[in-house]
Amino acid sequence: MSLVQDIVRSYLPTQKLGHNGWFSFNCPMCLHNGQPRADTRKRGGMQFPDDTSIRYSCFNCGFKTGWRLGTPLTSRFRKLLQGIGMPEAELQRLIIAVLKENEEHTLLSAVPVKRETYVPNWKYTSLPANTRPLVECLTDPRALNVAQYLHSRSLLELADWMWSDSEDFELYNRAILPLTYKGEIKGWHARYAGDVPDKKTRKIVKKHDSDYIYGLDAQTADRKYVIVTEGEYDALSISGISVGTNRVSQNQADVINALHKEVIVIPDRDRAGRDLEEAAISYGWSVSHPVWDKSIKDTAKAVEVYGQLFVLKNIIEHKESNKIKLSITSKHYYE
Ligand SMILES: [Zn+2]
Repeated sequence: MSLVQDIVRSYLPTQKLGHNGWFSFNCPMCLHNGQPRADTRKRGGMQFPDDTSIRYSCFNCGFKTGWRLGTPLTSRFRKLLQGIGMPEAELQRLIIAVLKENEEHTLLSAVPVKRETYVPNWKYTSLPANTRPLVECLTDPRALNVAQYLHSRSLLELADWMWSDSEDFELYNRAILPLTYKGEIKGWHARYAGDVPDKKTRKIVKKHDSDYIYGLDAQTADRKYVIVTEGEYDALSISGISVGTNRVSQNQADVINALHKEVIVIPDRDRAGRDLEEAAISYGWSVSHPVWDKSIKDTAKAVEVYGQLFVLKNIIEHKESNKIKLSITSKHYYE
């Protein structure tokens, strides 16, 4: 019960709450409302349906009034209170209580509920069964094939690649990338080495908690920029970070903003890339539409073709945070 409700309730002619949830008493308004006789059958009722409102109605004279938090005390409601004998001094006390409660209500509703900044609590995840460092498995031709694939994409030197002979997801045909955070394994990413043989074979199998971001461990304090990409291989190729999809959740944005660096997002050059660009703009980050050959669809491929230094320089030269300028370069950037 609020203070306003308490004051009103303490002046009711009855303190007995009926089974129907109403306090029933003789309506003091019947005569004012043209009834020939004063009510003697307790046909007036008051109800407190919740902490913020009061209702009154009489089923003899039909008088209805009430009060709701955020609104002033109406003259009808005051007349009712006078009718049941509330002294003038108490009525003044009530009016002040209403003003106070309304003011608090306004203040509380004006202040948006502050979101707690997200702090990662990603769980440790073990690597798939039989996972071992790729370099220790090269006598197995399947592992050698995986290593050759990574080498052909200039990725072999960039991570501690793992391999497993497990039949699950044909892991023996995949390069396993441990997904770490603060040095601990939080998941894994297993890409098929080469093109997938059929539609039912997934190109990438991965496991990690939601909102996980790959590459945070590489974001050292001396860096000026943090480069955000869609895919893990893109991130790996330029020491950036990957959000894993074409969306950036608010939680992921919190983690990225906590790095306190200029954020540059590089969307892939497809439809999904446009979504990532929109997310970047909504978080106030820069987007880069680097100038690469049309055939190059993502950052990892660009690094493979042009080398890391050129690609990084190109990304930074083409970063832009102005939405209108971005919309112009978008026309040529997306396929
Ligand atoms: Zn009445």
